[in-house]
Amino acid sequence: MTALLLVDLQNDFFPGGALAVKEGDQVLPIVNELIKMPFDLIIATKDYHPPMHISFATTHGKKVGDKIKHHGVEQVLWPDHCVQGTKGSEFAFKFPDSLINEIVFKGTLIDVDSYSTFYDNDHKSTTGLETLLKKKGIQTLYVTGLATDYCVKYSVLDAIALGFSVYVVKEGCRAVNLNADDEDKAYDEMEKMGAKLISIKELRERGI
Ligand SMILES: [Zn+2]
Repeated sequence: MTALLLVDLQNDFFPGGALAVKEGDQVLPIVNELIKMPFDLIIATKDYHPPMHISFATTHGKKVGDKIKHHGVEQVLWPDHCVQGTKGSEFAFKFPDSLINEIVFKGTLIDVDSYSTFYDNDHKSTTGLETLLKKKGIQTLYVTGLATDYCVKYSVLDAIALGFSVYVVKEGCRAVNLNADDEDKAYDEMEKMGAKLISIKELRERGI
């Protein structure tokens, strides 16, 4: 059984958004093609923070890109983004409802961030995604979305640690690249841990 995991395709991560990922909108044709493939389950995630979230620079009176330590975990500070109930938190395009089976929310607690779509960054609370996938008998996960070097990477690493077989569809991902080589490093790290990178062309040819 296979699932497609679409990571954080939200207005705030698209060009013009609060935490815009360069070329973020270019993933849409890929996503549109993927959601029509016969996955057993399609899940879209939402970064979904309360106001004054721990990850916001404004919460601490600091600058975007500064880092703080919180309960021993390093936290990069971002612009206010994906605040619950705001336009920025909404999906950047209208998924045909019939094609998306589940929406998983992350980063919903005020005092801990969540890059992974499985756990908060302190690994203490879960988003429920693991339970959902296991309940549906999913063994193989295809992951794509924003951003490669944060939420995609950490979701992939957790999925592998949880025993899933993981493919990353590269053309459907874009990176933040706070450092110019973050994207390359993220792909290296995912591959080293056992993720397979796959192109949309390969998927078209061999099927899922
Ligand atoms: Zn966030």
